[in-house]
Amino acid sequence: MASPGFQLSVEGGRRLFEARRFHEANERFEEGWRVCRSDEKRVLQVFVLWTAALQQHENGRGGGARRLLARALERLCSVSDDFDGLDVDSLKSCVIDTWGQMVAQEPLLPRWPEAFLSRPGSLSLDHAFSCPSCNEPVMVTVAMEEADGAQYVEDCPVCCSPWSVTVRREGGDVDVAVRRLDA
Ligand SMILES: [Zn+2]
Repeated sequence: MASPGFQLSVEGGRRLFEARRFHEANERFEEGWRVCRSDEKRVLQVFVLWTAALQQHENGRGGGARRLLARALERLCSVSDDFDGLDVDSLKSCVIDTWGQMVAQEPLLPRWPEAFLSRPGSLSLDHAFSCPSCNEPVMVTVAMEEADGAQYVEDCPVCCSPWSVTVRREGGDVDVAVRRLDA
């Protein structure tokens, strides 16, 4: 299972990428790159380079854009083909598409690699803690869509007391706070 920092960075970056906000997406991927290790770090570097290349291209610096993209492709070759159940090939084909468009001097229509994170349930985070009411060890599962900030009520599966669950993004990590609602 991919680490929370990785999922958070990829999911947050994806939304910005799809909105063509490449500069912000780039920062989001870089945030994850700083906290991740090994294959995750390499993949995030690919996203960092890819979005930097798109930015440079939009700013009219075609040569710089192609150099960055070449580095992204080079980096992709060092990632295992199927690391942690993620579809690295789908990422490769999307980066190669951008390369083709840049070289042909066509308008850039970068595609997000849909298959990359399509594994069901891959975008969630389990948070283990002791129930603030009954003290039993319990767990909540936070969907990554909520990781940018969410607050909701959930009942303890052991004692049925309602909790207030607060999710916040803290740099490259997710902070989950659970409090008693009836206190
Ligand atoms: Zn409880």
